[in-house]
Amino acid sequence: MEGWTTKKSLDLYGAQRWGDGYFGVNDKGNLVVRPSANGQEIDLFETTQMLVRRGIEAPVLFRFDGIIRNRIERLNKAFTTAIEQAGYPGKYRGVFPIKVNQQRHVVDAIQRYGRATNLGLEVGSKPELIAVLALQDNPEALLLCNGYKDSDYIELAMLGRKLGRRVVIIIEQLSEVKTILDIADKLNVEIELGIRMKPIARGAGHWENSGGEQAKFGLRTAEIMVALETLKERGKESWVTLLHYHVGSQITSITAIQKVLREATRMYTELAKLCPSMKLFDVGGGLAVDYDGSRTNFPSSMNYTMDEYARDVVDAIQVACSEAELPAPDIVTEAGRALTAHHAVLVFPVAEISKVVESLPQIEKPKKKQKTLTRLYDMYEEVTVKNCQEFYNDALVIRDEVLQRFITGDLSLAERAAADSIYWHLMQKIKILSAQLRHMPEDLEKLNDNLRDTYFCSFSVFQSMPDSWAIGQLFPVMPIHKHNIEPSRRGVLCDMSCDSDGQLDTFVDLKDVKNYLPLHDVRDDETYYLAAFLVGAYQEILGDLHNLFGDNNAVHLDVNEDGKVEVLNVVEGDTVREVLAYVQYNPSNLITQWRIATEKAAESGAITDREAAHFQKRYLAALDSYTYYQVFEETEDSQAKAGGVR
Ligand SMILES: *Cc1c(COP(=O)(O)O)cnc(C)c1O
Repeated sequence: MEGWTTKKSLDLYGAQRWGDGYFGVNDKGNLVVRPSANGQEIDLFETTQMLVRRGIEAPVLFRFDGIIRNRIERLNKAFTTAIEQAGYPGKYRGVFPIKVNQQRHVVDAIQRYGRATNLGLEVGSKPELIAVLALQDNPEALLLCNGYKDSDYIELAMLGRKLGRRVVIIIEQLSEVKTILDIADKLNVEIELGIRMKPIARGAGHWENSGGEQAKFGLRTAEIMVALETLKERGKESWVTLLHYHVGSQITSITAIQKVLREATRMYTELAKLCPSMKLFDVGGGLAVDYDGSRTNFPSSMNYTMDEYARDVVDAIQVACSEAELPAPDIVTEAGRALTAHHAVLVFPVAEISKVVESLPQIEKPKKKQKTLTRLYDMYEEVTVKNCQEFYNDALVIRDEVLQRFITGDLSLAERAAADSIYWHLMQKIKILSAQLRHMPEDLEKLNDNLRDTYFCSFSVFQSMPDSWAIGQLFPVMPIHKHNIEPSRRGVLCDMSCDSDGQLDTFVDLKDVKNYLPLHDVRDDETYYLAAFLVGAYQEILGDLHNLFGDNNAVHLDVNEDGKVEVLNVVEGDTVREVLAYVQYNPSNLITQWRIATEKAAESGAITDREAAHFQKRYLAALDSYTYYQVFEETEDSQAKAGGVR
């Protein structure tokens, strides 16, 4: 057999394809992150160990600010290049929709790195607007206001305009027009307006229903005409500067994008004839992320590149406007997923491995009189490549029989347990033998699924990867070390929640989805760390407190020009106290109740006075601890700690 290499390991997990150049493996076999194209790397495994030593427990959400910077640069480059190549007279203006990730440190990074190119922000609700109004102080950057708007929302947006923010209020519902005009009158302010159209053409992928005539947002053609009429009556049609549409996120197919573009560019040219003030063409979001690296129109993938997307957008607008002999508008994108998905990586430790076969006791020859068990055991001894299919079928029958006889009281618990052990050892043997068959029968193929090990990991799918649970979205997962060792096991991942949905059992693959993840054997004295990638868009804010697992510790990292890793920020995750308070438990009441219970127990003599003191201390310490399962790390200082606490 050929030797195992770190390159083979990267291929196995597909990291070269879905990683977009941000992830690699070093000579130690550790995963490295390359935040920008300058070749500097961060060893994620060593950084995790360093943070754990400093008391920042895993699961840790790493945010790489450099990746955000690089995504902004790439998107900008894609459009400026396309514009240059096409000789397009208009400009590109990026806008980040903050609903994708509203964390202040993330929005800060976006603003910091977007300043040079006047990257704008888009909001879709009053709370989002209130956050952005105070922070977005660049008068050159757009501040787009989408979503349902009450009069509070509209008024605040206009106050922002008065303070010099480049606010554009986008009309999504016909009823908004009058409210907007009335409030503008009252405040005596001139504003820019956008119109959100509802294209008939749809996107492609999970969110394709966000487009089409039944879409939740946007004006139908007849409604656009009514809106313009109303504006005209009040002499304000010159306030309209922007046409907007958004046909859903993660559009997987370039053909769908082109179709929508054809419809929208026609709409733009017609509207621009009616409203010569029009100067912004806003294509919304939808620019996809290739989560599985397959470059197909599979829901977790995309069949085009960012550069191709930019070229198609620029070309479509250019063709339509030159045909209609209209001035070229500036091009606005609201890509959110494509800017933030890559920057966040969740690292989590494996708490325990349940191995289907090795976790069971060794088997031994049953006593003569136990007929069923003996038959099963004989099969285990006698199974060969030739008879493995037949023995597989027989074993299933015997297994049923064992269950029936257990239910009727014919078999003891010990006998059933012995049968179970022999059965799984037999299955393991059949799996190995069947690999030599020329044609693998379908049911033996399934055996592989049943023989997957379960890796219990300290994280919550519901908190950290809700889209995996809610819509079957795939996120790449792989170990952050041991890449110089060939993974010998196949596993599925279970989280710490008491919910059978709290697991990852489908994994990215080039051709299909894999129902197992190749994983390593782990020594008793080491902690095995895995990471989920591309979790920077939508996951954090959609995540919930299922089982009261709270926010993860989040650490912002970058690497400076000397290659030194810099910790820019540490945002501590929730403590037990915080999540309990969130669901209305008053921590001081809880402490008092616990105190009363310990006092009573001490008075009655059930525990000693010293124990009472210790119980109180333990309760308080646990209340202020991280909500996640603590994987005990064998380090020098943890040994010292263990001596103290136990
Ligand atoms: C959600 C949303 C976006 C972001 O879409 P992505 O697919 O993440 O780029 C952009 N614009 C509007 C109006 C949205 O609602």
